[in-house]
Amino acid sequence: MGIKERLVELKSSLPKAVTLVAVSKTKPVTDLMQAYDAGQRIFGENKVQEMAEKYQQMPKDIQWHMIGHLQRNKVKYMAEFVELIHGVDSLKLLTEINKQAKKHNRVINCLLQIKIATEETKFGLTKEEAIALLHSDQFQDLKHIHISGVMGMASFTSETNQIKTEFEYLKNTFDTLKKIQYEMEIISMGMSGDYPLAIRCGSTMVRVGSHIFGARNYN
Ligand SMILES: *Cc1c(COP(=O)(O)O)cnc(C)c1O
Repeated sequence: MGIKERLVELKSSLPKAVTLVAVSKTKPVTDLMQAYDAGQRIFGENKVQEMAEKYQQMPKDIQWHMIGHLQRNKVKYMAEFVELIHGVDSLKLLTEINKQAKKHNRVINCLLQIKIATEETKFGLTKEEAIALLHSDQFQDLKHIHISGVMGMASFTSETNQIKTEFEYLKNTFDTLKKIQYEMEIISMGMSGDYPLAIRCGSTMVRVGSHIFGARNYN
């Protein structure tokens, strides 16, 4: 099976309410265009420069999602076009996104990244930190960002029960935060290895890369 066939098969297997982000990091534009030609319009990248280059080269009806850990000094390179930023984990970063969005007269949609994994290396806010952020005065002043939901990455483990517990924690965190920020509607969780479980736990947006495009080569 090629990219098109895998994409079509995956799409037909997803519930209607679940949005598919095709994670295309490291892949060439020719691969992305195969997915585009099969109808895919949402692509996820984890490096700002790579995303900006692909944005320049590809059709303009694509929605670009930034799914990676984001440095503040890179926000300006995508503020003009990015559709959704998944990995927002601080008020400082949110303030910079707001500043850059304002320059382009836009409101940029963001997800709060919640730390659900046990690994030290994974980023994100605790549930308590996210609550404090949404209640802060500084947050109320940010008119050019919109918090659309939450995002999380489960631990890298084959222990299905642990992954399930982490996904359930993210869903639970979403339910809590939605009482403060009631326009929230997105729970971004699930990748190639665990998206069916994520959907059973309440995911509304899956980020799938290698299952569509094949394994990545980082060399
Ligand atoms: C790379 C990446 C994915 C996709 O991973 P696959 O296992 O290839 O599906 C999803 N989310 C994030 C944040 C990623 O960096």
